[in-house]
Amino acid sequence: MELCPHVIDGAETMSVDGATFPSVDPYTRQPWAEAARGTAHDADRAVAAARRAFDDGPWPRLGFAERGAILHRLADAIEAHADELGAADTHDMGKPISQSRGNDVPRSAANIRFFADHARLAAGEALPSDTGHHMYTRFEPAGVVAAIAPWNFPLMLETWKIAPALAWGNTVVLKPAEDTPVAATLLARLALAAGLPPGVLNVVHGFGPASVGEALTRHPGVDRITFTGESGTGRAIAAAAAANLVPVSLELGGKGANLVFADADLDEAVSWSIKAAFTNTGQVCLAGSRIYVQRAVFTDFQERFVAATRAMVLGDPADPATQVGPLASAAHVAKVTSYLDAVAAEGGQLLTGGAGDGWFIRPTVLAGFPASARHQREEIFGPVVTLTPFDTEREAVALANDTPYGLNAMLFTENLSRAHRVGAALRAGTVWVNCFFVRDLRAPFGGAGDSGIGREGGTFSREFFTEPKAVIMRVADDQP
Ligand code: NAD
Repeated sequence: MELCPHVIDGAETMSVDGATFPSVDPYTRQPWAEAARGTAHDADRAVAAARRAFDDGPWPRLGFAERGAILHRLADAIEAHADELGAADTHDMGKPISQSRGNDVPRSAANIRFFADHARLAAGEALPSDTGHHMYTRFEPAGVVAAIAPWNFPLMLETWKIAPALAWGNTVVLKPAEDTPVAATLLARLALAAGLPPGVLNVVHGFGPASVGEALTRHPGVDRITFTGESGTGRAIAAAAAANLVPVSLELGGKGANLVFADADLDEAVSWSIKAAFTNTGQVCLAGSRIYVQRAVFTDFQERFVAATRAMVLGDPADPATQVGPLASAAHVAKVTSYLDAVAAEGGQLLTGGAGDGWFIRPTVLAGFPASARHQREEIFGPVVTLTPFDTEREAVALANDTPYGLNAMLFTENLSRAHRVGAALRAGTVWVNCFFVRDLRAPFGGAGDSGIGREGGTFSREFFTEPKAVIMRVADDQP
């Protein structure tokens, strides 16, 4: 059994009251780890440690090259411990090992390396002056960052948050999701071994509402909150942060539309759409969960898509051949099942899929819903997609945008002008054309509407994790 203490001020420590909670492996449905169950008191301890490390410690003063070197050592350590880190996420939340070990761990190392280099190489701005002044911008660290992460990409999203925060000289209190405590604990250990000074990266475990998570968001010692999770939680966090006027970056839910035009390469469209629907067992904010297909190719697409869905390999997520694992928790299975139970009542039909054994839901394709159906409007966050026909480009764009979310959308077409026209008309933080999931860490990432506030990535992360400062200096005209 893995034990996950908090990591505060460079030391492993249990909660002040000694309480713990289990992490259950979704495949065996047995506890496989035990984590400290934090309270507001533990949040206080962690913020105090991060505050000391920021105010008096070396980290903010080290300079970009030295901080970058330490962060690259952390990335090396992540790569060296890839098996352990991949297994941690797979046992914590059921992600197939080919995705955790094969994708998330390398992406985590890449997050750390990218932001270490980006901060070191970033240029400031000097503003030309006609009035005899020299003006330039400094990007100074903001202070103590609270990073609150979800369970669906534990290590990957934790590194996505801490990498820019640390690279720009902040100190961090990371709270992983309660379903996935293990990778964050391993990460904190690796960070200390790589040379991060004590108190620079603290990890506290536990729950959100009325617990350690909420305490972090209300804490007057926190200077930035970066959160990824549900839209409802984002609202609660924005309200809590408002009391202290703390800037928030909120990466929230999604209900991504996927538009397949009749002129698309249908083989490509089917294979990308399968990936967009069922990667991580559909537990992806960016999932292409609403598929709209132009009527001329609807039947053809449906037949191929359903056949490809049925061919997906379900099984033990620790088996490298497994493509679809169990859902992450019993509570999440109950949520997704409630949507399967309501298919007929909302006017739809099941084409393939449905409930599986244990915590498995088979990859599920639904069709026939009106635009008002809950299945078309709400984030199901499981291996469940809807298929809907459309006639015109205008109708496709209107259907895609008919959602309170605005995280991402994708479209398949071989028509160049249509690709740009539709890409511009979609209300989404990211639009993929003839592909999916392609990320460049320089690009803005985030969403509109219920999908969040703000963007991270490249200079967008710099703006959030620093206090940009204007320095204006008069240059005297007269020679001494
Ligand atoms: P969640 O909102 O339930 O929990 C996320 C984190 O917030 C957890 O660590 C939780 O303990 C904490 N939390 C919950 N209530 C809190 C509160 N009141 N104060 C402080 N912390 C609190 O989300 P989840 O179920 O872990 O993750 C799934 C959701 O995340 C989905 O909606 C998904 O779309 C979204 N998501 C978005 C992105 C993105 O980049 N936009 C990426 C991944 C996941």
